[in-house]
Amino acid sequence: MLFNMFHIPTKSLTLYQTDNRTFMAGIYIHIPFCKQRCVYCDFYSTTHQEKEDRYIEAVCTELKWRRQTLSDQIHTIYIGGGTPSLLRPQSIEQLKKNIYQYYPIAPEPEFTIEANPDDITPEWLEAMKCIGINRISMGVQSFHNDMLKLIHRRHSGEKAIEAVKLCQKHGFKNISIDLIYGLPGQTLQDWQEDVRLAIALNVQHISTYALIYEEGTLLWQWREQKKVYEADEELSLAMFEYLITQLKENGFEHYEISNFGKPGFHSRHNSSYWNNIPYLGCGAAAHSLIGTERMYNVANLNQYMDNMNQYDKGNLNYKDVCHCEELSFHERYNDRIITCLRTAAGLNLKELETDFGTGLKDYCLKMAAPHLNEKTLQITDTDRYPQGVLKLTHQGIFLSDGIMSDLLWVE
Ligand code: SF4
Repeated sequence: MLFNMFHIPTKSLTLYQTDNRTFMAGIYIHIPFCKQRCVYCDFYSTTHQEKEDRYIEAVCTELKWRRQTLSDQIHTIYIGGGTPSLLRPQSIEQLKKNIYQYYPIAPEPEFTIEANPDDITPEWLEAMKCIGINRISMGVQSFHNDMLKLIHRRHSGEKAIEAVKLCQKHGFKNISIDLIYGLPGQTLQDWQEDVRLAIALNVQHISTYALIYEEGTLLWQWREQKKVYEADEELSLAMFEYLITQLKENGFEHYEISNFGKPGFHSRHNSSYWNNIPYLGCGAAAHSLIGTERMYNVANLNQYMDNMNQYDKGNLNYKDVCHCEELSFHERYNDRIITCLRTAAGLNLKELETDFGTGLKDYCLKMAAPHLNEKTLQITDTDRYPQGVLKLTHQGIFLSDGIMSDLLWVE
């Protein structure tokens, strides 16, 4: 569920193996089932949930054969989608069993499952607790029923509130909710109410995304047909500014452009992506990043299941079942710029020089100079790091897309 006003190129999540970062890794499992399609979503998912058992078998096959590709200790497990809360708990148990069988799992890993508020029941929560899930990420998106209906979400605002409270009642102490702003017809006041309600729910983490009109989605068609209109930039910025101010005042750390967490509750799994830690993605349409190699699984349920079946029988080899690409030096430099500048931790210039050489570090600083003058970028932490850390300023966060693209290497 990634909707972001700050577009990340698909090649933005790369691993840089500096010495202190090579021993942790994460596993992502993609569950491509949804009960209905939301109008804005261009993620791969299907409503054919009757294929659940065959699909879980296929993912377990993939987990088994890919164990050689990732030997680092697993610190985070993330079951995302799609809508993983549609799965029967036995399926999640089966996935967990296979993950623990084939991979070295760190003590107390962060174990997240994405859930739709409508699927959350006392029985489901108890089952998740038994499996060892310790973090629930809920796709709330809005508390306004007219908005939810418009974008074809199946839950109501009341149900979302009830679901969060139920998670808390059942002892879940690490809950994240997703919210979207810039929805058609959404006013600043609507958004302020959403933010206030989210804060009042006392969750540990909030991810927020500006609505994107992805080509090919129903929402995109509606805009083309002038049935809906995009929120203007001024309104989107006012919404984002309100969000940042309110969440900071209420104890959240703005640790990544779209993510806010209470101290100690940053998403460890997503932080791995931004900190260049390797991750293995299993399932249809899942991506992996191991070393300097990026791998993509086919975004088609039947094809994915057939691939795994044929692989298991020895009829296909590794390169036939997932698309692999070696990232070039400059692609890795560009990824470093984007991933690091998105985070509050920023871009360590000494590390940039060590990994990419003085030439590219100087190029980065040359391209950053106008933004440093305009105070949308700053160099901080010079007492701790010899060359300092390049970061977006508060003002720069609102212009981050343009700033980051200025710093990229263009062939
Ligand atoms: S539930 Fe999530 S993955 Fe499924 S269609 Fe809606 S936004 Fe997309």
